[in-house]
Amino acid sequence: MIGAGVIGLSIAHELAVAGRDVTVLADADPLETTSAVAGAVWFPYAAERSATVDAMLAVTLERFLAIAADHPAAGIDLRSGVIVERSPEPDRSWTAWVDATEVDASELPVFRLPDGATGLRTTVPLATMSLYLPWLRERCVGLGVRFERRAIDDVDALARAFDVAVVAAGVRSGSLLGDDASVVPIRGQVVRVENPGVTEFVIDDEDPAGLTYVLPRRDCLVLGGTHELGATSLEPDPATEAAILERCARLVPAVAGQRIVSRGVGLRPGRERLRVEEVPGRALRTIAAYGHGGSGMTLSWGTAERVAALLA
Ligand SMILES: Cc1cc2nc3c(=O)[nH]c(=O)nc-3n(C[C@H](O)[C@H](O)[C@H](O)COP(=O)(O)OP(=O)(O)OC[C@H]3O[C@@H](n4cnc5c(N)ncnc54)[C@H](O)[C@@H]3O)c2cc1C
Repeated sequence: MIGAGVIGLSIAHELAVAGRDVTVLADADPLETTSAVAGAVWFPYAAERSATVDAMLAVTLERFLAIAADHPAAGIDLRSGVIVERSPEPDRSWTAWVDATEVDASELPVFRLPDGATGLRTTVPLATMSLYLPWLRERCVGLGVRFERRAIDDVDALARAFDVAVVAAGVRSGSLLGDDASVVPIRGQVVRVENPGVTEFVIDDEDPAGLTYVLPRRDCLVLGGTHELGATSLEPDPATEAAILERCARLVPAVAGQRIVSRGVGLRPGRERLRVEEVPGRALRTIAAYGHGGSGMTLSWGTAERVAALLA
């Protein structure tokens, strides 16, 4: 297993549950990955949509509902919140899996919706990744999964020690396999502030000034964001941060002036199609599991089940 982000950990978990002997090789620990930067709300965004992928959305939702109910320490909460709608025909396909009701500005005292916009109120799982990723790692360890901090530059060379390689290396997966130039980084920047008491999330991905969201995690408010196709800098940009703070304060006035706790930048693994399949012609059996774009958390358990099925 190459990768200790949300995809690698979820797959490692499923394979270990299926009785496989699993070693996770990764050059960054879970809390240093793109996955740790994610908001992280269950919501399809910037990733393939198809019948196959939609089935993964549903599987993942079910799993998060069960984790939220059975494992409070995992950091998964069911959060109510609002998806802002500005366009005349917004994409509501996600309401196939969760209830949603239309609300207007008068029903949202905490939020200040843009003129003419309405909202859909819904309840979905939201992960405090600083808790969830370590929790998931520990679950894996409990199932016998081994972790090695190690950079891999040749997947085929793993044939000397392993029967199967699963490549869940996020944005670097294509170059690691060497046969796929179609993975494009989609840079995302967030700033985390102290929470003044906001309990609901709000997402406005149709803001012409930029993707805007306020997500209450257990330990802070995550304010975002950006969607920068092809950008690769992992340094937080101060001007971008100022713009995020300004947009978020316009949407949720209570966040203005809150103390900044930390900052984050991640490179979403953008790809037109999600790649979860066997890779032919390798020195050992190799499964690709990457290309989740802005939906890695949202598709994680569905991806893991699919990889486990491929290897059954
Ligand atoms: C700002 C932001 C907000 C987001 N919000 C959400 C959200 O609300 N909901 C949602 O579902 N998704 C969200 N996402 C998207 C989500 O974070 C990604 O889809 C997800 O993190 C991808 O997970 P991954 O495990 O594939 O990759 P990563 O988390 O990047 O993990 C890759 C792993 O592979 C390892 N690796 C890579 N190359 C090598 C190598 N050569 N050798 C050894 N190890 C290697 C790394 O060390 C790491 O452990 C967001 C992303 C960003 C940036």
